[in-house]
Amino acid sequence: MPHTLSDIFNGCIGYTYDDIILLPGYIGFSSKDVDLTSPLTKNIRLKVPLVSSPMDTVTESKMAIQMALQGGIGIVHCNCSIDQQVDEIKKVKRFNNGFIYNPIVLSPSDTIADIHKAYNQYHYSSFPITEDGKVGSKLIGIIDQSSIDFINDTTLPLSNIMVISFATANHTVKLHIANDILKRNPQQSLLPIVNDNHELHAILCRKDLRNIRTYPLASKNWKTKQLLVGAAISTHQDARERATRLVKGGVDVIVVDSAQGCSFYQLEVIQWLKHKFPDIDVIGGNVVTQKQAQYLIDAGVDGLRVGMGIGSICTTQSVCGVGRAQGTAVYRVAQLASAYGIPVIADGGITSIGHIVKALAIGASTVMMGSMFAGTDEAPGNYILKNGARLKKYRGMGSLEAFKASESAMARYLPSLSKSPPHSSDVQIAQGVSGYVASKGSLQDYMPYLRKGLQIGLQDIGVQCCQDLKHLTDTGEVCFELRSMAAMREGDVHHLHMNDI
Ligand code: 5GP
Repeated sequence: MPHTLSDIFNGCIGYTYDDIILLPGYIGFSSKDVDLTSPLTKNIRLKVPLVSSPMDTVTESKMAIQMALQGGIGIVHCNCSIDQQVDEIKKVKRFNNGFIYNPIVLSPSDTIADIHKAYNQYHYSSFPITEDGKVGSKLIGIIDQSSIDFINDTTLPLSNIMVISFATANHTVKLHIANDILKRNPQQSLLPIVNDNHELHAILCRKDLRNIRTYPLASKNWKTKQLLVGAAISTHQDARERATRLVKGGVDVIVVDSAQGCSFYQLEVIQWLKHKFPDIDVIGGNVVTQKQAQYLIDAGVDGLRVGMGIGSICTTQSVCGVGRAQGTAVYRVAQLASAYGIPVIADGGITSIGHIVKALAIGASTVMMGSMFAGTDEAPGNYILKNGARLKKYRGMGSLEAFKASESAMARYLPSLSKSPPHSSDVQIAQGVSGYVASKGSLQDYMPYLRKGLQIGLQDIGVQCCQDLKHLTDTGEVCFELRSMAAMREGDVHHLHMNDI
């Protein structure tokens, strides 16, 4: 007889994704009509419930930009200096905009070499030119990469080549009207917004207009139109300074990153964050029990990250003997958290789309992944070729290699470091390993693939949105079964000659 989740997960054995299977329901709709919208935190909803892990081989700005464009979100890791992390956040924030109030501006005495420099630094192809090269001064021209394509003399001042006749809009203009003006002027890559004295106030970019069409699911701040991005902080001594700088840099959500999140170090940081930045959502964790979750809920978290020792690079369960099977952890924590309206992120252990479907079905609102994204073009690092395979480095944040890169990684695994920095004679206990994962190509193709797979999964269950999935598993209308070892083998590829004949 099929089981409800409570039958399966309230016993004394811990189960994970592979142990269970969902039973199919009635398909009365097309897979493209399946809505995957789901909350990341109390105040942030994603159209695609996928999150990239705050790991130094997974999420920096390139990953975070593509994740947000595709409807998910990236959490930028903190295994680096505060300056570096804030820079990564700013790159995401600058990528997609409505009005840009702090654009890069050039002056008429700047040269073509300065355009090349600005392009290399910011990857923008067009710039407004004002009298003194600053926002707020008189607008006198615009310049575009394409207008300097075939000029070899890089010392030429921009005053000789800038475009001086172009459309502008007044600073009182509404965004949709400014968009229309830009659409009607296809030769312009940007639209300068000026005040009544023709002084530069802001700009609007054609690339952003194109992105609205190309990425309809993008995760954006509805006010600024900028992409959403998260950042991790540890409970390390620099947490307060780091968080303050990240918030100033525009971060939308902060993840307090500890392997065992139920500690007074983390509670202190959460309470401080919620007091100091009440408008920024805070995700606490990691937790795997209801008791742990209750502490963080009481401290004021807006989201909970669930998982301990189950990631593909984790050794916590064998080194420390502590953790929990991920299916049971997600179910138990989500049961408590939903009573408080707090979404749960199932973090780690995902190796297939089927695992994501199961994580959502047992109570997670979103799913965080490391290894699934580490092999994409957007992950930090270069590909290497090994025995004919194209691979990328992937390492646990509790690995000795990650410890060497920064103290922050160590603080994730040694909460006592929150108060005092490590001493050279301290013994380091790794809780993770380093390795390689296979190339997956660009997230531009991979995210739509994951999304489509999820839509088909939900369609097979017979539910048309994530909210229904939660509701119908709670009421027992969506059913599960445990699988025997033989059933698991049967559910995987089998009895096939894998080698070429
Ligand atoms: P994956 O998606 O690769 O299975 O797991 C990624 C998750 O593993 C991360 O989001 C993080 O929670 C966790 N993690 C990352 N590095 C380490 C590590 O070195 N040790 C342990 N125990 N967990 C890690």
